[in-house]
Amino acid sequence: MDDARCVELQKTVTNEDLYLIDDVKSYQFVCDECGVSLIPCSYKKAVNLRKPYFKTGKNSEHLVGCYAKATSKIREQAKTARISTDECFPLAYPNRFNLTAAKSVKTDKSSASDIQAQHGVIKKQFDNVSRGNSKQNYVTSSFQTLVDQYFNFPFDRDRELTFVGISGHQYQQVFQKIQNPIGKQKFRFQSEKPETKVFFSSLSWEKPEIIDDQIIVKLSAGWWQESDGKKKNLRPYFVEINTTEWSKTVLNNFTQRLTQIRELVKGTDKKAMMVFAGKQDREQDFYRFTCDESRLICFKVF
Ligand SMILES: [Zn+2]
Repeated sequence: MDDARCVELQKTVTNEDLYLIDDVKSYQFVCDECGVSLIPCSYKKAVNLRKPYFKTGKNSEHLVGCYAKATSKIREQAKTARISTDECFPLAYPNRFNLTAAKSVKTDKSSASDIQAQHGVIKKQFDNVSRGNSKQNYVTSSFQTLVDQYFNFPFDRDRELTFVGISGHQYQQVFQKIQNPIGKQKFRFQSEKPETKVFFSSLSWEKPEIIDDQIIVKLSAGWWQESDGKKKNLRPYFVEINTTEWSKTVLNNFTQRLTQIRELVKGTDKKAMMVFAGKQDREQDFYRFTCDESRLICFKVF
């Protein structure tokens, strides 16, 4: 399973959170629905190639009818194959994102209520399935939830998504991987017109720079050219994050998270991906992306 409830922390944690918790062994985890004890596995970054996950102990099982277990099976299938059918997608999912809601709601609270909403809807959906009704989707203000949906269901990206402030009405139209220029191109516009998109790229090895109210994060996407027989990124794309409006706590949390993520992948074959809602500079420096909302930036480790 990909998530579990941590007894001591009194919150739901995802498999990726396990990478960032110090001394995972000192915590207890249970199924958020039926309460069966769960064991965290594969969370040591240097040793394990597999992503972290939770499993039940040898002689224990989820309670009969535990929907967390049932959805977990479907989510597992979704990693390697499309699970949408002609009629529907079998799980409830966020099909609307509200930018202004994300700005006004505290992150931790929003994600907690989001998980509750998600579970509530899934539960309802399960009840509905038996009665032959269709499932319900929901609105979210958690950017991380949206990003997880995009990457955890790679074959179902044509699902519906309305993102306030971004054009398109499917996940794949809202999200955009930053592409390297090809052939003789010296740069590449990443969208047809100047517009905000949810862009993503893996981080470069270079340390982010902090200059006054800006954090500059270099990406591994860029103008890769042969130089002395080696492929080099001569012009990496970079994200210029404007932190003027951020509180000290938000800024600290963000830089800490960025450092943690970079440490995590250092010396391993893992990659850290940065996902952010932002814009490409189409006038002065085509390699520059800008974004300024901390709640619209998150990281994924692959
Ligand atoms: Zn369970």
